Amino acid sequence: MVKAKTWILKKHFDGFPKESNFELKEEVLPELQDGDVLVEAVYLSLDPYMKSVHKQKQFISPYKYLNLLSGRVVKSKDPAFPEGCYVVANCGWRTHSVITAKGPARPIMTRIVSEWPSDISMSLALGSLGMPGLTGLYGLEEVCKIQSGETILVSAAAGAVGAMVGQICKIKGCKVVGSAGGDDKVAYLKELGFDQAFNYKTVPSLEEALKNASPEGYDCYFESVGGPFFTAALKNMKPGGRIAVCGAIATYNDTTPQMCPYPHHEIITRQLKIEGFMVSSWQHKDEESVKRMLKWMKEGKLKAKEVVTVGFENMPAVFIRMLKGDGLGKAIVKV
Ligand code: NAP
Repeated sequence: MVKAKTWILKKHFDGFPKESNFELKEEVLPELQDGDVLVEAVYLSLDPYMKSVHKQKQFISPYKYLNLLSGRVVKSKDPAFPEGCYVVANCGWRTHSVITAKGPARPIMTRIVSEWPSDISMSLALGSLGMPGLTGLYGLEEVCKIQSGETILVSAAAGAVGAMVGQICKIKGCKVVGSAGGDDKVAYLKELGFDQAFNYKTVPSLEEALKNASPEGYDCYFESVGGPFFTAALKNMKPGGRIAVCGAIATYNDTTPQMCPYPHHEIITRQLKIEGFMVSSWQHKDEESVKRMLKWMKEGKLKAKEVVTVGFENMPAVFIRMLKGDGLGKAIVKV
């Protein structure tokens, strides 16, 4: 008999999440049937999108990336996932999960590529070399279609996605400007090779800061925050500029929607292309993409920073810290 610890959402969020929104429970797991596997979580990922899908009663749903874990298959009745193999799966906030082959509810589960080097932590399969890294890669390659020599703007640049965006821009021969909400984060961006970086919380004017960082404007903007930053960025785009709308973290905790000036004039006169996207659209490319990023990391072209908190009981606290933007690096809980 295997017992799983599981965090459930006891009460829906009203504005910013609180620890009292969550409750820790224990659950006895069913015996494995043909086609089932038992996965033991090793690392769990905390990501901003979890806030925006909070309407579900529990952190378990068919939603594709609803809480990723990197874990080990400890029992298997599915030859595609033998005992001992490592997987990434969206199981919810749980220490153990029976993943069933039957029915439409099987969570997304992929094996970690066999080429994964032993000196690279599997937690990175949830960050730089996983969903956030792939988001950065696809936003640049598939949405913005960046070209060498172009200038790219990145907001939330010290976050899991933004840090990868900046480094991939440099690999591809672009100039990259990043914004972040702390001087330590700005220093980190420079360490990663960003050409220019500034603290959006302390500059007197966002619009001026963007102009100073690239007086000739921006060919592409990798948008993750929304709010006033988006308005300021529009005014600094080059004619024909492209904007990949990845996220809007500055709006996720709003109880009433933020208002902003109508953007039409800038979009029309600058002839901008603005496209929202979901990382899952290019899932068929994930294996090849992860191998490409692993190679960049082995060559020293990609660096990753994580904040790993030990203890499953810390999930809500780490989630709240992550949403506040506290800490420098991808938020991970090691069970
Ligand atoms: P992350 O590592 O948690 O970093 C997010 C950063 O956003 C924080 O560190 C914080 O940095 C910044 N932030 C927080 N509140 C903010 C505010 N009010 N205004 C401006 N910045 C704020 O998150 P991530 O995984 O990199 O995700 C970044 C964005 O991508 C999110 O919007 C997320 O929803 C989105 N996303 C989209 C997809 C997709 O498929 N479209 C996939 C993954 C992620 P500072 O201290 O610098 O403010």
